[in-house]
Amino acid sequence: MLILIDQDGVLADFERGFHTAWQAIGPRHGHPPLPLEERRSFHVRDDYPPHLEEAVVSVYTAPGFYRALPPVPGAVEAMAELLDLGHDVRICTSPLNQYRYCVPEKYEWVEAHLGPAFVQRMVVTKDKTLVVGDVLVDDKPDVTGACQPAWRHVLYDQPYNRHRPGARITWADWRAVLLAAGPR
Ligand SMILES: [Mg+2]
Repeated sequence: MLILIDQDGVLADFERGFHTAWQAIGPRHGHPPLPLEERRSFHVRDDYPPHLEEAVVSVYTAPGFYRALPPVPGAVEAMAELLDLGHDVRICTSPLNQYRYCVPEKYEWVEAHLGPAFVQRMVVTKDKTLVVGDVLVDDKPDVTGACQPAWRHVLYDQPYNRHRPGARITWADWRAVLLAAGPR
């Protein structure tokens, strides 16, 4: 199978990275970090009060934020296992419009955590529906774009996508669901 894997919220732990960063600056803004299980919106800025939007955005547009994200537990091992099983695995990721640090640091993250050879597996696009694959593993509840996607969307489980029905996995329980998703 050709398996497309989203990067943030699936491989790189954006939520934990944001939570840690906000712990440092939250007191200055009089707002503690939202517990991860209480996140309800896909965009973290939508879960904080509107007057804090600038401060929230400043966290994840700062230099070093994307590079320092911890891996989602089990993600690195799962990537190795999928390759061992003979699947063609690609990272399919949409960068921020504020791309200056995000884009190069996404590549640095992959090189650091998955190895230099994985860098050639990166597909960086603002529209994932233009990318061909059998499956897309993504934490975003609705992945839309210009085309009817060729892939089947398997959700990566996160508190903010639990309203959405359909197949979902974590790296603790991915094998049956992901491998059963099969080619179309
Ligand atoms: Mg994501």
